[in-house]
Amino acid sequence: MNRPAERPRRTTFLPYGRQWIDERDIEAVSAVLRGDYLTTGPLVPEFEGKLAEKVGARYAVAFANGTAALHAACHAAGIGEGDEVITTPLTFVASANCILYQGGTPVFADIDEQTYNLDPRAVESLITDRTKAIIPVDFAGQPANLTKIHELANQYGLIVIEDAAHALGATYKSLKIGSVSHMTMFSLHPVKHITAGEGGVITTDNEVYYRKLLDFRNHGIVRDPSYLEHATPGKWYYEMQTLGFNYRLTDIAAALAISQLDKLDDFVGRRRAIAQTYNQAFRDLDILDTPYQEGSGESSWHLYVIRLNLQRLNVGRDEIFDRLIRENIGVNLHYIPVYLHPYYERLGYPPGLCRKAEQLYETILTLPLYPAMTDEDVEDVIHTVRQVLSECMKTTVAG
Ligand SMILES: *Cc1c(COP(=O)(O)O)cnc(C)c1O
Repeated sequence: MNRPAERPRRTTFLPYGRQWIDERDIEAVSAVLRGDYLTTGPLVPEFEGKLAEKVGARYAVAFANGTAALHAACHAAGIGEGDEVITTPLTFVASANCILYQGGTPVFADIDEQTYNLDPRAVESLITDRTKAIIPVDFAGQPANLTKIHELANQYGLIVIEDAAHALGATYKSLKIGSVSHMTMFSLHPVKHITAGEGGVITTDNEVYYRKLLDFRNHGIVRDPSYLEHATPGKWYYEMQTLGFNYRLTDIAAALAISQLDKLDDFVGRRRAIAQTYNQAFRDLDILDTPYQEGSGESSWHLYVIRLNLQRLNVGRDEIFDRLIRENIGVNLHYIPVYLHPYYERLGYPPGLCRKAEQLYETILTLPLYPAMTDEDVEDVIHTVRQVLSECMKTTVAG
C-alpha cells in the first residue's frame, strides 16, 4: 500500500467530453460578427430548416439551451398544475425540472436493468387519470423503447416529449431520432454531438405545437396577422397572448450550429468507432459490463457507461473513480438519480423509489468519449482502466 506514487501514463487530463471546433466553425461565427444580426436573424431559421431536414421532422424550433427547449415543450403540451408527467430518474435534472417549471408533478418510473432506459412496464404501472405526458430519455444515445412508450401514449392519450439530448444522429427501427415522438429535444451544449456554445431544439410534425413553441420562445408575443386576437390597428402591432420567456438563440450561436451540423455524420461515426474499440478492449473482462445494445436502433454514443462488478473488486466504485482521475482519465458519473437531489428530497420523493436506478448508480462510471479523442487517447483510457481494475481485483483464495 505504501508503493511510491508512480507517474500517470498521461501527463494531461483527458476530459469525459469536449467540443470539436475547426477553422470553418470559427469563420462562420466571425462572419456573423461582421454582419447585421447578432441575436435571432436569418441564421436561426436556416439552422432550424437544416436540422429538421436532417432528422426527418416537419418543424424545428431553436432555443437558448436544451433546458429552455424542454420547458417550451412542456408548455406546448399543455402541462400545468395537477398534471403528472412520467420520466426516468437516470437523467440530467433538466428532464424533470421542466415539469416543475410548468407546475406539473414529475413521476419517476424505474429503468430497465440492461439498457438503463425507462422500463415501459414501470411506466404503465404509474399511469393515472392525471398523467398527461411521458418524457423518455435516450440514455447515452441509445433510443428508449419508443415502440412500447408510444403504444402506451396512444392507449392512454398521452404526449411523448422525447429527451434526445444524448441521441442526435441515432436511429430507431430505421427512423431517425427527432421524427418519432410528438416532440423531441436536442441540446447544443459543448459535450453533446454538435454545439452552439449553448442551444437547444425541439422538433415536431405538429403545427399547433410548432406555433406554441415559437411564441413561448419570444415572450408569448405573436406578430403574424392571421393569428392575432385583436383587430390590427397598424403594421407596428403585435400582441402578447401567453406568458412566454426570452429563450431565443442568437445568430452567432446558429452560425456555429449550422457549421457543426455539417460534421454530424463524421462526429457520430467517430463516436461509434471509439465505442467499438472500447467494446473489443473490455470484452474479456468479467469485472465490468460494457453498454448493452438492445438492437432496435443504432446509438449515437453520447456516453460510454461501464458497470463495475463490485463483487469481484476489493474497493468500491468511488475508489476506482478517484484512481482513474489521478491517472488523468476524466471519468464521470451519469447520473445521480434525480429524486435523490436535496431539492427533490424536500418535495417528498423518498429514497428507494426506483431501486434499479439506485443500484445502478452505485456501480457505474462514464469513460471519455468524443470525436476529438485521438487513437492514443483511446488507448490511454483502455490501458489505464484495465490496469486500475486489475490492481483492485479480489484475489480468490483457493479452498
Ligand atoms: C444536456 C442535457 C439536457 C439539457 O441541455 P442544456 O442544453 O444543457 O440545457 C437535458 N437532458 C439531458 C439528458 C441532457 O444530457
